[in-house]
Amino acid sequence: MKRILVALLFTTYMVTNAQKIQSPSEFLGYELGTEFSRHHEVVDYYTYLAHTVSDRVLLKPYGKTNERRPLLLAYVSSPENIKNIENIRANHLKSTRGEGDAKIAIVWLSYNVHGNESVSTEASMQTIYELLTNKVSYLENTVVIIDPCINPDGRDRYVNWYNENKNTPNNVDPKSIEHHEGWLNGRANHYMFDLNRDWAWLTQVESQQRLKAYNLWLPHVHVDFHEQGINEPYYFAPAAEPYHEVITNFQRDFQVTIGKNHAKYFDKNGWFYFTKEVFDLFYPSYGDTYPLYNGAIGMTYEQGGSGRAGLGIITRTGDTLTLKDRIAHHFTTGISTVEVASKNASKLNEEFKKFYTNKNFKYKSYALSGSDDKVNALTQLLAQHQIEYGWSDATTLKGFDYTSGKIKSRKIAQNSLIVSTDQPKGTLVKVLFEPNAKLSDSLTYDITAWSLPYAYGLDALATETKVNATTNITTKDPIKNIISENTYAYIGDWNSMNDARFLADLLKENIKVKFTQKPFTLEGKKYERGSLIITKSDNRNKKDFAIKLSEISEKHAKHLMSTSTGFVDRGDDFGSSSVHLIKKNNIAVLTGKPTSTLQFGEVWHFFEQQLKYPLTVLESDFLNADDLEAYDVLILPDGWYGSFMRNNIQKELKEWVKNGGKLIAMGGAIEGLEGKNGFKIKSKKTEKDTTKTEPLISYEDSEREGIKNLITGAIFKTKVDKTNPLAFGYEDTYFTLKLGDDAFDYLKEGNAVYLEEETTPTAGFAGSDARKKIANTLVFGTENYGKGQVVYMVDNPLFRGFWENGKLFFVNALFMVD
Ligand SMILES: [Zn+2]
Repeated sequence: MKRILVALLFTTYMVTNAQKIQSPSEFLGYELGTEFSRHHEVVDYYTYLAHTVSDRVLLKPYGKTNERRPLLLAYVSSPENIKNIENIRANHLKSTRGEGDAKIAIVWLSYNVHGNESVSTEASMQTIYELLTNKVSYLENTVVIIDPCINPDGRDRYVNWYNENKNTPNNVDPKSIEHHEGWLNGRANHYMFDLNRDWAWLTQVESQQRLKAYNLWLPHVHVDFHEQGINEPYYFAPAAEPYHEVITNFQRDFQVTIGKNHAKYFDKNGWFYFTKEVFDLFYPSYGDTYPLYNGAIGMTYEQGGSGRAGLGIITRTGDTLTLKDRIAHHFTTGISTVEVASKNASKLNEEFKKFYTNKNFKYKSYALSGSDDKVNALTQLLAQHQIEYGWSDATTLKGFDYTSGKIKSRKIAQNSLIVSTDQPKGTLVKVLFEPNAKLSDSLTYDITAWSLPYAYGLDALATETKVNATTNITTKDPIKNIISENTYAYIGDWNSMNDARFLADLLKENIKVKFTQKPFTLEGKKYERGSLIITKSDNRNKKDFAIKLSEISEKHAKHLMSTSTGFVDRGDDFGSSSVHLIKKNNIAVLTGKPTSTLQFGEVWHFFEQQLKYPLTVLESDFLNADDLEAYDVLILPDGWYGSFMRNNIQKELKEWVKNGGKLIAMGGAIEGLEGKNGFKIKSKKTEKDTTKTEPLISYEDSEREGIKNLITGAIFKTKVDKTNPLAFGYEDTYFTLKLGDDAFDYLKEGNAVYLEEETTPTAGFAGSDARKKIANTLVFGTENYGKGQVVYMVDNPLFRGFWENGKLFFVNALFMVD
């Protein structure tokens, strides 16, 4: 009887609440799926829910985008759970230390990480409404965290463009303009970064702010909602091979459990779907793998649609795919995910705790050393991931040496950085630090290597025993440079992005800076090529010189040596012609059609958010010698320049370089500079071996055969000519991240970084034909022409903003090459 009464009360409670809450359609004033909702309208709906059902919905802002749109998380659960939300969270996190008795399932649903995959945010509104009305029972033992839009700038860019261009009523003809976005388009954020490649590197404000919130919860289940091409139906878990070896059997199996539950609903409706194909689990910076490496069931769901789909479009089979269909599918998998999590709450809690027990990986510790700036850059990233680290005593260690690729015993200095896998984030440490991740299948659609010691240019040793470390480093005194009247010059070293930012600030402040082209010794200290020399007499007309230099060096914690003489012990004196003034260059980048939106974005972001130096963005109409006269440097980002360069543009550029311009050509832009009227660079010709007959390949095997020509992203050890200004601040070798098999012959002179005969990758996968092709080719080089220069960057040091150790090459190209 009592039970019936409770049940009755419960039902009335549900019904009255259901009546009180407006559905998305009622609230927005149009039927969901008949319009794209702008971000502010979505924010309004969530805010409305948080007010109307405040006992079951908590809405918390976690930051702002580049264009100042709010980023939000909605926490949805039963009134009981919402009241106890802080206890639930604390108890859940205890599991990461093997403690506590957490019982509540935590499900995190992330919508619209890709801007023009615009159905997701719409589906999120229907999903939260359903959870608050018809599916309240799931919330008894589950907290659902909903991010309605990870990438509001990217989504509104698409939605606004669509609204401006669509027919009324909308037109389902795939040729109509509403199905063809313009140039600055697609799935990326404001800076054209793909946020679904940024979870591990955290180069973007959206990722940085989101990860703080994510680490407060570390959910059991994380879903990243996406869209794929209009002719694909729907994709859900289980994912495709390769799986990273750290993914546990439970994580694999539970993907199947969830997938089968989705299939049940899709089958009932007669909807098509596929699983186990295409989307693999290897690269650590996705919205499925990153959560997996943090103990969650991380999954990607893909609806057919994306930027081409609009409100409706005719597909290859002649069907019309509508926004309403797309919403229905994402809605179904979202609710089904919460259902499975709720049913398996205790199992999820048990297995989550198990995930966080020590895994006994082969390498227990990573010992890293290098310049303070580079170590600092890495520890900043580790702190954001809540990865613990410490500092060693001076000792001798045996382990895998990253530079030589061999097992070695060697001394490590006092206060070397130690990162160990024996910690809650141990799995993530293994994935990010190990020299070469084990690849179970080479058919993957992303880069296959990313090891942080190579990316940050640090000496590293991976050891099979745990290295003791202390978290108390003897604090270094804050940098306080003595700027005095008697000083003849100040000298600073040059080997990091921190040094580059220091230089950029000096130039912006109109402080004159020189660099040395040759090493020198002064007062017993050796200075390498590229060292900065700031003399008092170069700046004698700048009244606040001393104050500004002191401010800027403090801001960047940049240590300067001061000297009262320009007479060096060994090398060239400061008045020598080998000591050059660094020009405060006017820099422009080409934008528009021939360039890749992503690579243009990397340059754009680099200037505004990393180097912080002004940049002019030029349309191709301005690429003539007259307009270019105002600029010292022009950057051509990666792209497709073939037909573009034929329109006399090559001639204009050549004229401009001859008169003293500096052209920086990246990736695909290099090919555009070839040819008999172009510059000296030449693509490498590969001869086909005609003496051997190739075996016939079956139709089915042809995709696999194709990977012989493939490098999707692997690390190679290259040679460096340290005397080339492009390579100032580097050692004799450099580990480059190669993203394809583009190959150019050596230049006659000016080969700053290059591959020799041996091209076995240090880490990652490279097909056998591709390896042959890139043997003896250029990576970075310079060509003098007339009064100007061309800088070639075959590999992209700005790729996704995470290859920290490559960025100084780019800065050298801007300021040192002259
Ligand atoms: Zn996507």
